Amino acid sequence: MTDLTDKVAIVTGASRGIGRAIALLLAMQGAKVVCVARSADELQEVALKTDGLALPADVTNEEEVQHVVSETLRHFGRLDILVCNAGVGSFDVLEHFNVAEWDQIFDVNVKGTFLLCKAVVPHFKKQRYGHVVGIASDVSKRTFESGSVYGASKYAQDALLSALRKEVRSYGIKVSVIYPGLVDTYFNEAQPGGAEAQKTHLRPADVAQVVRYVLEAPPLVVIDELMIHPITQEY
Ligand code: NAP
Repeated sequence: MTDLTDKVAIVTGASRGIGRAIALLLAMQGAKVVCVARSADELQEVALKTDGLALPADVTNEEEVQHVVSETLRHFGRLDILVCNAGVGSFDVLEHFNVAEWDQIFDVNVKGTFLLCKAVVPHFKKQRYGHVVGIASDVSKRTFESGSVYGASKYAQDALLSALRKEVRSYGIKVSVIYPGLVDTYFNEAQPGGAEAQKTHLRPADVAQVVRYVLEAPPLVVIDELMIHPITQEY
């Protein structure tokens, strides 16, 4: 088993939802967590709870992403784990989307993952060790009506991480992708905690447990892909 004590982990989208739950759980395992998102106040609250570092940043901005990585290395002197979780989505028939909405979804879900990996992988290669975990979606592997734009972005994010896995394996770097089904979060302007969603959706903590499981795999073991659904969800 890989011990997470004192491992340094960047978690994007840590201000709420799945990313927040991942940050809290990794901190409980003794990891030093660098919390990244745009909402500085929420991020600070999570950083206080995790005894970690809040670095407000927009994952679509290359300079801000580079700053997150250099500041992490400056502050902690090491970097072991990157969790690419920040993501956005909205759902409608294709012709109702405008280009700005397409750009925003692709910028956060695909370019954000690209920029974080681009900034972190050279460091991981140098140390010949590191673990990238991507939070994709079960819709990275299936399509549905009204999911054209979000689904396309999640397919692209998955393809990027899957190709990266092949590029970095010989350096001892792990790339794991998690494919959750429905999760009860603020995603797409939802309000979590409703009675119905509690029966039909995973909790963010369920996804966080999967991330912990993947990260704690023995050094020789890499869990490449892991799909998780609520038992009630047909997919
Ligand atoms: P959420 O509650 O809305 O959280 C999204 C997180 O992403 C927030 O912390 C948000 O922080 C951050 N974020 C968005 N745009 C950002 C940007 N430009 N720069 C930095 N951070 C940004 O949604 P969630 O459900 O936890 O989503 C997390 C991931 O899970 C996403 O990748 C999503 O695709 C995936 N997922 C969700 C579900 C689901 O049913 N909820 C299912 C499968 C996969 P700020 O707004 O503060 O920046």
